[in-house]
Amino acid sequence: MACFSLATQPSPMAMRRAGLLGRHFASPFRLLCRQISVEPQATVDRLKESGLLRTQGLIGGKWIDAYDGKTIQVQNPATGDVIASVPCMGRNETTNAISSAYNTFSSWSKLTASERSKCLRKWYDLIISHKEDLALLITLEQGKPLKESLGEVSYGAAFIEFFAEEAKRIYGDIIAPTIDDRRLLVLKQPVGVVGAITPWNFPLAMITRKVGPALACGCTVVVKPSEYTPLTALAAAELALQAGIPPGALNVVMGNASDIGDTLLESTQVRKITFTGSTAVGKKLMAGSASTVKKISLELGGNAPCIVFDDADLDVAVKGSLAAKFRNSGQTCVCANRILVQEGIYEKFANAFAKAVQALQVGNGLIEGTVQGPLINEAALEKVETMVQDATAKGADVVTGGKRHSLGMTFYEPTVLGNVNKEMLIFRQEVFGPVAPLMRFKTEEEAIQMANDTNAGLAAYIFTTSMPRTWRVSEALEYGLVGVNEGLISTEVAPFGGFKQSGLGREGSKYGMDEYLEIKYVCLGNLKGT
Ligand code: NAP
Repeated sequence: MACFSLATQPSPMAMRRAGLLGRHFASPFRLLCRQISVEPQATVDRLKESGLLRTQGLIGGKWIDAYDGKTIQVQNPATGDVIASVPCMGRNETTNAISSAYNTFSSWSKLTASERSKCLRKWYDLIISHKEDLALLITLEQGKPLKESLGEVSYGAAFIEFFAEEAKRIYGDIIAPTIDDRRLLVLKQPVGVVGAITPWNFPLAMITRKVGPALACGCTVVVKPSEYTPLTALAAAELALQAGIPPGALNVVMGNASDIGDTLLESTQVRKITFTGSTAVGKKLMAGSASTVKKISLELGGNAPCIVFDDADLDVAVKGSLAAKFRNSGQTCVCANRILVQEGIYEKFANAFAKAVQALQVGNGLIEGTVQGPLINEAALEKVETMVQDATAKGADVVTGGKRHSLGMTFYEPTVLGNVNKEMLIFRQEVFGPVAPLMRFKTEEEAIQMANDTNAGLAAYIFTTSMPRTWRVSEALEYGLVGVNEGLISTEVAPFGGFKQSGLGREGSKYGMDEYLEIKYVCLGNLKGT
């Protein structure tokens, strides 16, 4: 996205569209919308009054413009309207953000775990008390339906709450010595300054899933949100300041992605990179981390199989596959990318699934009843079109959908493709859009082979009523997460991460803390001395 030299005010048009809220929503959304606003200007005023419509970067506790004054426009993907402009930052701002995090590390890491925990808990409380405003921001800049945005705020906040608690549970070890006048201790200590680079598809949760454990462990952070969704990140940072997280512990820079990324990679003060995004960028960051030998965690792309066996409960399989595929219009790393259906249930499943897909209401995420918002940008839409064209040219049937939506912008019809095969691009690559490819299989072995025939290994789903099969298939799948008879499985208390090229490390759960801790062995010797 281009940087602009003149700052642009929030567009009245964008906010007028937000005003649709008051006119079209019914309960419970109408209630929420009344709370948010019935008038467009009041919506902006409310966000401004709450201090949540932040349009500058955060360095050392100060809100800062780009040093050269350049800005990036943040657009509403449902309307194309400009919501706000934010600074287009680069190397200099990132260097200062790193210094600020580095200087703050010595004090933040020395607080007791209980003191850090209290700050995080307060941050959680503030996020929850501003849930509606944050959800509105997410829908405005990312496009997902307001109901999903509210869900993301709860999910994102839960990481802060969970890691506030985990801050107090960092345990070391005492190892039985091999020489009797020694004692062998294992300490766990914060890794240092963390660079956190996050994507646009979960503007809040992908940040809290990293920043929560980092701060809990005593690390300080420089966050780089996606240029498409910086406003939610800045609002969350504002609440972190209000919660008493000290200036410099959490810094936010955005703008020129490669300049910011390279500055984080080259700095010897940054000891850890944590990234969620595409596999291509993840590989670059992994290579770039080598020069300073940083710790690195990567949450990368998926290519999730969703396997429906003949013995599945049809209703459960349709509901679960629909949720796994069409959440966030198919723009999540754990979205079902290939729906593998056993031949005995294929026709029944395909008919019921297509009917459910046809019922999905597409539209602006602020309008009541919308369950499918726009794609994030034109490039995402073109990628979906290319993959559908490739599949149909190679023999796939369009069961429903299959083209741009009549609403225009970046809306795409919820689509089901039948008779997909391994030669099609959609079998190999993440479509990251509302397209569900159906493939037939005969045996359990064939399904496992098809499911594992990919470089990705993030999420997989199976639908079956057989307990022995549940065990067999779950163990055979080369994936970091497996959902059985369930399409929505992410939670802050369970480990999230991929096998193979879907990433390194885990986020969420007690395992998520390990990513931000160094292990130190201390040998106390000569204990028989004085
Ligand atoms: P992306 O293009 O890789 O961008 C992710 C982040 O990296 C953004 O902040 C982006 O900045 C930044 N970036 C881009 N080029 C960079 C560079 N050279 N150096 C440093 N940073 C750079 O991915 P995306 O399109 O936003 O997200 C979609 C991808 O994320 C999908 O593949 C999805 O599967 C994956 N994802 C994975 C998980 C998981 O947990 N495994 C979760 C969510 C998404 P700008 O946006 O400002 O350019």
